Amino acid sequence: MVSVTIWNEHRHERERDDVAEVYPDGIHAVIAEFLDEEGHDVRTTTLDEGPEHGLTRDVINDTDVLLWWGHMAHDEVSDEVVDRVQEAILAGMGFVPLHSAHYSKPFKRLMGTSCSLKWREVGERERLWVVEPGHPVAKGLPESFELDREEMYGERFDIPQPDALVFSSWFEGGEVFRSGCAYRRGAGRIFYFRPGHETYPTYYDEMVQQVIKNAVEWAAPEGVVDETFGNVDPIEDI
Ligand code: ZN
Repeated sequence: MVSVTIWNEHRHERERDDVAEVYPDGIHAVIAEFLDEEGHDVRTTTLDEGPEHGLTRDVINDTDVLLWWGHMAHDEVSDEVVDRVQEAILAGMGFVPLHSAHYSKPFKRLMGTSCSLKWREVGERERLWVVEPGHPVAKGLPESFELDREEMYGERFDIPQPDALVFSSWFEGGEVFRSGCAYRRGAGRIFYFRPGHETYPTYYDEMVQQVIKNAVEWAAPEGVVDETFGNVDPIEDI
């Protein structure tokens, strides 16, 4: 069992009818349901849950893996919360930024690059190729799978070279994209997963759900490592 916190901006769903139709209780509710069925201890929080967006010190201390969906209000996330999230990831908390979270404050902070990309929203077909089938996040998936309608994200995606590239997307319009990227930062594991535009039923897709379930398992910390830094006495006689 993994202690999972799903953080969602939860603005599009409340402000736009077409999004509310797809995710009436918010994107976080759909993700929470299938992770809950896995037996995980799942909690959800949103941007407007107080000045700390529901990500208080207690909540972060009790989180093994943090999922993040945001788009229109990245700037409204307080820097104090971003500091807290970054610190927790470096100390071993898992982090799974989804879709437009490529531009979220915590992801950009951890990557150190602009995280910019090309995009187009016409509801085109996306084919995701599993390019690293031995990776734990690819467990149980076929060689490739398709989403009928998605937003396009295209290269170049300005990220540092991932430690492992697990998924690569092809879009109907011709672009390609590194859509499943694994990183380590400090003791923490990060998995960026591309699909999940708010107007399409992507998070109801079984394959997408499998990827997110795998990412949660993979990103969960494996025991506490005691790290020592700073000035130390020699172990051997000098
Ligand atoms: Zn989008």
